[in-house]
Amino acid sequence: MPRRRELLLLAAGWVVQPALASRHERRELFGSPCDLLVPEGTPERLTEAVWRGLATMNREWNAWKPGELGALNQAIATDQSLQVSPALRRVIAGAAVLERQTGGCFNAAIGGLVAAWGFHADVLGPGTRPRAGALAPWMAPPPSLASLRTAGDRLRSADPRVRLDLGGYAKGVALDWALDLLQRGGVAGALLNLGGNLASMGSAGTRPWQVGIRDPSGPGLVAALATQGREAVVTSGIYERYRVLDGQRCTHIIDPRSGRPARAAASVTVVHRNAALADAAATALLVAGPQEAPRLAARLGLAQVLVIGTDGTRWCSPALAARLA
Ligand code: AMP
Ligand code: MG
Repeated sequence: MPRRRELLLLAAGWVVQPALASRHERRELFGSPCDLLVPEGTPERLTEAVWRGLATMNREWNAWKPGELGALNQAIATDQSLQVSPALRRVIAGAAVLERQTGGCFNAAIGGLVAAWGFHADVLGPGTRPRAGALAPWMAPPPSLASLRTAGDRLRSADPRVRLDLGGYAKGVALDWALDLLQRGGVAGALLNLGGNLASMGSAGTRPWQVGIRDPSGPGLVAALATQGREAVVTSGIYERYRVLDGQRCTHIIDPRSGRPARAAASVTVVHRNAALADAAATALLVAGPQEAPRLAARLGLAQVLVIGTDGTRWCSPALAARLA
């Protein structure tokens, strides 16, 4: 059994050494295989509650399927206000703070741009690059969450171009929420993998959880890491979701400043206790690229960051380098 578990997790891009006594559950969510490892004996009603919560977030926060986020985007486009659940309001407020802190490299209001590049779809086929005219309405400047106005439990936007897209943030929020729930339920050691973004707490029995950082240029790993305490390891990469447009690979991560797919970095890994911060930061640092990344990481207070450039060059912060095997 443990061998099979390892293989399953390898398929998600991560090497994890589960404890012999851990139970592995797998579901398909957020467009990827997701894995939950908990100690044998963890009540099933607890793990079911985790999966139910994750499924709700997956459904309600999708940028291109019907759900609460879709309804809000529709209201914004037609200059209406909408009653929004406290959970979604909190997520949007967090994303707005991160947009400011990252100087707009992370911007959850640019769903219009993401859609213009054809990424609001489950299956990504080849095609042609969008014409400048299709991008122009979303540029100069790009829409911002700063345009949102709250009145009680209702939201509206001063800019009808705001299209919320939480794809760069929701998995991190979900990881934090799930570990909180497990912790409150008395689980000491757990690992959750949401499509290659991962958070763990405690240990895998007597050993720490071991996770791998994927090589962006092919199969295999660039490094492995033993997680410490409660910790998230989140990676953004141009190899994950991309389209071949006019013969060129275009990643799903868009640079809001140029309106075009990010090109400078191949992958960015952020290790931090707060998975939501790590998720938004990894997206922002991928946009910023290897040159700007060290300064932005410092501004965000991130000590553990690995940036791999498209030419294979690496920048690893000293605190993370000291832990990588
Ligand atoms: P991640 O894999 O966490 O880097 O998230 C990528 C997803 O975030 C994309 O599929 C889009 O849905 C969304 N996205 C793309 N570019 C940005 C950006 N610059 N800021 C915030 N979200 C973005
Ligand atoms: Mg992200």
